[in-house]
Amino acid sequence: MTLATLSLITPKSNAAAMGTSTIVPKIPPPHLNGTDHRQRCLTQLRSKATSLEKYIFLSGLKERDANLFYEFLLANMFELIPILYTPTVGDACSNYSHIWRRPEGLYVSLEHKGRIRDVLRTWPAGIASHISVVTDGSRILGLGDLGANGLPISIGKLDLYIAGAGLRPTSTLPICLDLGTNTERFLKDPLYIGLRRSRPNIAEMDAFMDEFMEAMTDVFPKILVQFEDFSTDNAFRYLDRYRHRYQCFNDDIQGTGAVVLSGFINAARLSSAASGLPLSEHKILFFGAGSAGIGVAKQLMSFFRLQGMSEEEAKDRIYTVDSKGLITADRDGLQEHKKFFARTDYSGPSLTKLVDIINYVQPTALLGLSTLRNAFSEDVVRLMSNLNKRPIIFPLSNPVSLSEVDFLDAVNWTNGQVIFASGSPYPPMLHNGVNLEPGQGNNMYIFPGIGLGTILSGAKHVTDDMVTQAAMALSAALEDEEVRVGLVYPRLVRIREISARIACAVIRQAQDEGVDRNILLRSLKDDVLIEYVKSKMWSPPAYYAATRM
Ligand code: NAD
Repeated sequence: MTLATLSLITPKSNAAAMGTSTIVPKIPPPHLNGTDHRQRCLTQLRSKATSLEKYIFLSGLKERDANLFYEFLLANMFELIPILYTPTVGDACSNYSHIWRRPEGLYVSLEHKGRIRDVLRTWPAGIASHISVVTDGSRILGLGDLGANGLPISIGKLDLYIAGAGLRPTSTLPICLDLGTNTERFLKDPLYIGLRRSRPNIAEMDAFMDEFMEAMTDVFPKILVQFEDFSTDNAFRYLDRYRHRYQCFNDDIQGTGAVVLSGFINAARLSSAASGLPLSEHKILFFGAGSAGIGVAKQLMSFFRLQGMSEEEAKDRIYTVDSKGLITADRDGLQEHKKFFARTDYSGPSLTKLVDIINYVQPTALLGLSTLRNAFSEDVVRLMSNLNKRPIIFPLSNPVSLSEVDFLDAVNWTNGQVIFASGSPYPPMLHNGVNLEPGQGNNMYIFPGIGLGTILSGAKHVTDDMVTQAAMALSAALEDEEVRVGLVYPRLVRIREISARIACAVIRQAQDEGVDRNILLRSLKDDVLIEYVKSKMWSPPAYYAATRM
């Protein structure tokens, strides 16, 4: 590859796209060695004092040399992902107006209303754009309304698409919708990069979103839109509003649901093997009923549907709890998204303490999506252990500082019997001489494969069953050795192989439902399809080879 072609494939090279680049030959030193240079980058990265400085360093590296950046990311995923995505991306978002260096994505603002198409047409990759992560910055991670500072969340997620499923960097389009912010400190910050106004009312926002989604499909006919970190009500509303009209999905709702379903399938098998309880008799208690909690609960209904149960029967196996206690239908002012699972079979005094709720429900599984640190206290975990030979306990709130229970405590309080998966990573531990590894219900397992399968099949929509099949494929990817150390998810180092399997499952389901448009794939046998999918995964050219003339 020549230097000229290298600079052509540098993604998101906005300076070049805007015609501001200067012509300086970037000829590497004659004895530059790729392996040494990656080590040099690692040393430079590790010399940074704070995570935020590491984030800024990586973002600069991507701008300077995208191929090297992605090669570096693939070789050091465990170290880099927590910087490019949670938890450090949260710091990057909170401080984005202050650390901003150059355009890295597209802002579409309320002031663009009426000419959103023109704004989208400025994106250099044009119709080669296949995947866009879109946030409105209104509920970034657990950090609230960050307004226009939310862009790094879209950038980070797309980096995971590239690393996890080999999406081509030039096909990715990070977007932040700048719709103002209700966070006073940003409005008063002279360096804030967004619109200085409060957020619009629902009617104004709906009109904006309608124009935006229509324009996206006009300007980028092959685009798959992933909604990210919208406020809870809007996340559900816009998913419902657009999911049958456009190629789109919501990772907070559907991706999380699928990844937890996958881990739960493996966990329920282990738990039932120990107790003899039929799979259909599991009962799941959700602690936390926000967009993630309710989205996951809806997806987990398909676990019971797979056991042959009706929708009503499946719903009946699920209980939800919010800050006011067990959610019942007779509660005044219940938010719309909480109504679906609200219990109609409990009429006693409000159950507010988790221990009392567990005693009433007798769940086999306790899933935390509450952001409440240590909510699964010793008495809660011990009670779960008394009720179940192998209790399923998934503290899914991120980051670790919000986790409902730490791995070490969950293991010790259940005498090593817990079947555990968390939202954030924990180190493995020894218990009575046995090495136990915690599962991590990381969305990164699932959304890259869903995206790749949707794009390759040309699916018109992302259907519920495509998401369910993605979860099944992930659960089936678990290997015996991984089961032996207590894992309910495969190891993340296998991410590209896993994404290929998920993408195939998504493609097949799209074909079964007739929503695929790339009908040539229908005739491919499974072994040929997986090779096809793998052949479509982009990998950065080896750095040393790429820089030699
Ligand atoms: P959210 O703020 O919309 O919802 C939080 C829910 O927890 C609300 O229903 C709230 O009532 C409930 N809650 C808060 N305090 C409580 C208390 N004292 N007792 C009982 N319930 C309480 O947040 P969300 O978007 O639904 O996300 C929740 C968590 O899930 C976050 O930490 C997020 O990082 C995590 N999450 C994890 C994954 C994953 O692991 N794959 C994916 C998405 C979200």
